[in-house]
Amino acid sequence: MCEFCLKHGEGRKWYLQASNYSDDLLSDIRRRKFIEEFFTKSDEIEKYIGRLDQLARAPAIVRAVVARFITARSKKTHFGQVVPIEDIEQIFGFVNSITRVACFCRHITLKKEKRYCYGLSLSPDGGKLGQIINGLDKSFLGGPDNLALEKLTKQQAIDAFRDHEKEGLCHTVWTFYTPFIAGICNCDRADCLAMRCTVTHQIPVMFRAEYIACVDPDRCTGCRGCMRLCQFGAISYSAANQKAVIDKTRCYGCGICRSLCPTDAIHLDKRADVPAAAELW
Ligand code: SF4
Ligand code: SF4
Repeated sequence: MCEFCLKHGEGRKWYLQASNYSDDLLSDIRRRKFIEEFFTKSDEIEKYIGRLDQLARAPAIVRAVVARFITARSKKTHFGQVVPIEDIEQIFGFVNSITRVACFCRHITLKKEKRYCYGLSLSPDGGKLGQIINGLDKSFLGGPDNLALEKLTKQQAIDAFRDHEKEGLCHTVWTFYTPFIAGICNCDRADCLAMRCTVTHQIPVMFRAEYIACVDPDRCTGCRGCMRLCQFGAISYSAANQKAVIDKTRCYGCGICRSLCPTDAIHLDKRADVPAAAELW
């Protein structure tokens, strides 16, 4: 279990606790202000990411100190975790409102509207989170086109997530002042700022999943389809065996590699049951 499961999930998966999605948490004025400011400060976030590139050239001791600070601060305010589709379906099982919005990261990195983010609420009408997003007016991602909130049924949402997997996007839950979970994003390393920060710059702002992938060599035909999807460089190909091999120290447990496997050769194990990965978050 990751530390959030212990702190915010009473020893169970924290992102499966309905209380962490509740409107009650949005009664906190500080949290509400954080959300409003988050979506209207793309320029500042862009500069911040530029500074991370500079940090990569700094001495190791400086990088280590800054990384600890960023991770500790992010855990309090805006932190994520990779979640496989089975657990996404469980989340969709108890939330009452799923709203698709433009991705903030792609707005910054691609200057494009890409609807890869899903706001979640326990209220059928989107609750206070919907009010906040609606209240952002034209400042939200820079234009009125983004304001048409798109409500999805649970089935529409899960179908969309399966399509995102085939695009190579992994699912991640996000807090807005921990432990409040505002939604789920669909990320890749090229365009998602949190993945860049975590994987490229080695400054964790999201946990790995509670799972880890494993290849059944008897089923693997060596087609290499799974390798195309892994955002974390965790899959290699054994030329001698003509099979895919997963590096358990690199696997984030997103499970999206399964979506292109023609023989169902990949399954997820519990991270806690795999000694090489149990303590890797
Ligand atoms: S090998 Fe691990 S990190 Fe890579 S796609 Fe599969 S589950 Fe995700
Ligand atoms: S997609 Fe499946 S069959 Fe193809 S290499 Fe990967 S694990 Fe093996």
